[in-house]
Amino acid sequence: MEDLVFFYPEGQEAHYLEGHPESPERLFVILQALKQSGWWEAYPHLPPLEPPRSVLGQVHDREYLGYLRKACQHHYPLDEDTYTTPESYGLALQAAGGSMAVAQAVWSGAARRGYALPRPPGHHAAHSAGMGFCLLNNVALAAEFLIQERGARRLAIVDLDLHHGNGTQDIFWQREDVFFISVHQSPLYPGTGSLDETGAGAGHRKTANFPLPPGSGDQAYRAVMGELILPLLDGYQPQMILVSLGFDAHWMDPLGHLRLSAGVYGELAAGLAEWSDRWCEGRLMLLQEGGYVPETLAAGAQGCTAALLGQPWNDPIGPSPRPEGISWRPVVQAARQFWNLNSQELDEIPSTG
Ligand SMILES: [Zn+2]
Repeated sequence: MEDLVFFYPEGQEAHYLEGHPESPERLFVILQALKQSGWWEAYPHLPPLEPPRSVLGQVHDREYLGYLRKACQHHYPLDEDTYTTPESYGLALQAAGGSMAVAQAVWSGAARRGYALPRPPGHHAAHSAGMGFCLLNNVALAAEFLIQERGARRLAIVDLDLHHGNGTQDIFWQREDVFFISVHQSPLYPGTGSLDETGAGAGHRKTANFPLPPGSGDQAYRAVMGELILPLLDGYQPQMILVSLGFDAHWMDPLGHLRLSAGVYGELAAGLAEWSDRWCEGRLMLLQEGGYVPETLAAGAQGCTAALLGQPWNDPIGPSPRPEGISWRPVVQAARQFWNLNSQELDEIPSTG
């Protein structure tokens, strides 16, 4: 068994728009950082699978797929934020196929962990519409591939991007075989992801949203992971965890106002790695979503890869120089109540000594 496998999308630089923050440079920086740390040469890079039509057609509306193909041919943007190029459709399929290849390796036990770098990113792409820089939903396609093609029955998607993963939520809204959990800044684009959005039908309470107010940072994320996400995973017992990993919650990123450090990104990944070692044979994969500052992409990727491998790592950037706000505390408390996670040990923390 390999300790780790990667996917990197060859030719991704053809998906490009001058001046747009979702640039090929983002992945060049991550690749460089992984090479500098020696990890890129030490572990295999998988070629993409060909996404099965049945999986594509389940996750995305066939009409949308036809529209997307045409939009790319003609360079039409999907919305004011979401550009396409003639190569974008093929690259989006490649990104999905690469995510599937890593998911399959981790699922089958060929690799313990995986880190896919799909581009274009995916988590805003809904069943019948691309948006927010995203064309096809890579994490949803990887999860659906494991369910349809490999017999998975219970998967968890944990979305750590700054923004709510509205597309992933939409795709699995009525599904009980995928538990979607997102922590994100609110208010912020795309405007969804409130605490009371929890799925419907068979998917009732199989969607969990933890919106954090601007100014939240390392302590807020530690609380969300320890008091909310890990206990929810305890209850659901997924067979594998897929992480939508965006580094735009980092305090240096201009797209949001959260104050997360790269070091705590690593802690979050380590927490999920420990959980997966204990409960699902270590099956954990990361898929890159957002993140728009070169230094934080490099540091975040290194910190999270170290966590996947159980290796120590020092954050060269450090925590935000601005103090973290405290308005997240009642939000986390309300979420614990909402999800019935008020365990005795947490309530009985001594107030003195
Ligand atoms: Zn984002």
